[in-house]
Amino acid sequence: MSDLNGTAQSTTSDSGEFAALRDQFGRSIEYLRISVTDRCNFRCVYCMPETGMQWLPKADILSYEEITEVVRQLAPLGLRRLRITGGEPTIRPQIHELVRMLRAIPEITDIALSTNGVRLPAIAPLLREAGLDRVNMSVDSLRADRIATIARRDLGFDPVRSATAAHDAGLDPVKLNMVVMRGINDDEVEDLARLTLAHPWHVRFIELMPVGDLRSLTWSHVVPTDELLARLNAIAPLAPSEGPSRGNGPAAYYRWPSAAGTIGVITPMTHTYCASCNRVRLTADGRLRTCLFGDHEVDLRTALRAGEPLEPLFRQALANKPKEHELLQMRIGGLKALSQVGG
Ligand code: SAM
Ligand code: SF4
Repeated sequence: MSDLNGTAQSTTSDSGEFAALRDQFGRSIEYLRISVTDRCNFRCVYCMPETGMQWLPKADILSYEEITEVVRQLAPLGLRRLRITGGEPTIRPQIHELVRMLRAIPEITDIALSTNGVRLPAIAPLLREAGLDRVNMSVDSLRADRIATIARRDLGFDPVRSATAAHDAGLDPVKLNMVVMRGINDDEVEDLARLTLAHPWHVRFIELMPVGDLRSLTWSHVVPTDELLARLNAIAPLAPSEGPSRGNGPAAYYRWPSAAGTIGVITPMTHTYCASCNRVRLTADGRLRTCLFGDHEVDLRTALRAGEPLEPLFRQALANKPKEHELLQMRIGGLKALSQVGG
């Protein structure tokens, strides 16, 4: 094993290929979240301020070819799984063509998409045909008026129609994510959970992270997961479940007896997942961030556009991956919104 600057380490196998690149805490990096845009057709209250966002200049945003090149260079170092996110990735033209380019990289075994779901009825079949495996969709309410209030946009979004379109296209698993906010949408937790009785979907409840420039949301809007699970258990006892066959990440899963789908909880506020964190993030303008929170990032775009190798920069980034995040100190490294780093 070679020691690189005394921190990030890699190994070379007998065949001469690079094995997993590991950070100084032994975590290997096999999962990359790729933000393809910082823009969005929604303005969710928990994610972005309604006004005042400074969008990246178009020239700064990585092309599909540039994103593919980053993944091609990371793949021999252990990268296996990708998530395309944003902002809203489906507002980038021909997003399925990016999926096709990434799918052609042999080491990549899993490609997922995070979306607000608005465009899924139109493009789910195209995405699947291009090689997308699975999808996560934000569903913060089932009520049209409330969706428009939370998203601060009325685009006629129908979550059940979009999830059905994803499922019918063959995307599997289909996960529906609700950011639970006390007094705003927490009265719909039971309705969302009941979707799993008839549909083979995975409904996941995310603890609100009151970070960034969210003037109207505070800790008082956070609903602890234990409280939420107690409410669902009162309807019928939940049994622990393995969850979906692929992409379990940091969620814990449960199931009601004979339900078609599962119920998951993601608890960034009351637990941290840092010890097992195997993910890094590529921002839309080509910075590699090794933690969602804090200022741990390296610019890849300059080297990429100069045709220089990226590996030294990957190593530099990994050497600085923090042991755990600084969320509880409420720092997100000067960002106004999680949409700027892909959530
Ligand atoms: N536009 C896509 C979507 O809505 O799924 C992808 C990007 S969005 C930034 C990624 C994830 O971040 C979504 O699941 C969203 O619910 C989550 N998210 C954004 N702000 C959050 C916050 N303050 N607390 C918890 N989750 C948040
Ligand atoms: Fe857009 Fe997703 Fe953020 Fe909502 S959560 S504003 S859909 S990026």
